Amino acid sequence: MHDYFTSSSLSRRDFLKGIALAAAGLLLPSVGRWPEGQAVESVSPFWWCELRDGKPHGADHPGNCFGLPGSLMKLVAATALLEERLLSPNQLLECRGTLRIKGQLYRCQHPHGKVNMRQALAGSCNIYFVQAAEVLSTRRFLQYAEAFQLNRPTGPSRESAYLFPSRTALAHPSQLYVLGLAKPMQPSAAQLLRMTRHIALRDIHGFRPATWRILQSGMRSAVTQGTARQLDPQNRWRVAAKTGTTPSGEFYQSWVLGFFPIEKPMVAFCGRALSGTAKDAAVPAARQWLQQAPWASV
Ligand SMILES: [Zn+2]
Repeated sequence: MHDYFTSSSLSRRDFLKGIALAAAGLLLPSVGRWPEGQAVESVSPFWWCELRDGKPHGADHPGNCFGLPGSLMKLVAATALLEERLLSPNQLLECRGTLRIKGQLYRCQHPHGKVNMRQALAGSCNIYFVQAAEVLSTRRFLQYAEAFQLNRPTGPSRESAYLFPSRTALAHPSQLYVLGLAKPMQPSAAQLLRMTRHIALRDIHGFRPATWRILQSGMRSAVTQGTARQLDPQNRWRVAAKTGTTPSGEFYQSWVLGFFPIEKPMVAFCGRALSGTAKDAAVPAARQWLQQAPWASV
């Protein structure tokens, strides 16, 4: 069993309930059969939901796991930039590995060179997005975070714990929000799963098809050649994903969210590793989860 959702993020009762359901076979349908109509909550460490007939089935659950979202917020930033036509997705911005803006030094793990928006999402290029954030106000960013419902709980009966900044608390520069490092904004795993669902199903009214295309292709490229390339190296499930890593004291925490198959999404997922970077912890856990899940033998 993974150690990712400890008692601090998932209550022991919920955890044991999940184990009990799994043991009863409710969460682990027979080999080769899609879990139609079944409970669709993952036991551990990933939450997922089925996307059947173009609609989500299953729960936004549980909401007790929340934290800084890190680079997952680049999806929100890209949406705002595209919808507001603030930056062409084809515009190349150069990443030399470090950049100082307004006295703050930003880094990438390595220079990404000249990248467009899709490549910047795939490689999770901080330098691309901090430059792009120069034309994106914090208020505008938050408007799109609200469009993805990151300011709303996922359901009355399954209230999420999360943080969302008030409209008057906009002191942080947009760069901090775009990189998911602004402390007033800490979405829950359930909210992030819901956001993933929206991207998979392209179901926020009014967003342009081109916006969904860039988001999905950026997430797809993250799996084929970017930060999530260890997630599905044999391209078995044709996953699209986005990773996020945040500092936690001297260590790291990380996320990965995604959906599959890219052509006709049937499952959306979101998981969090309470220790370790996305590359070292969240992505390997997601890969293991994918291999053990009901669809592994489909
Ligand atoms: Zn970069």
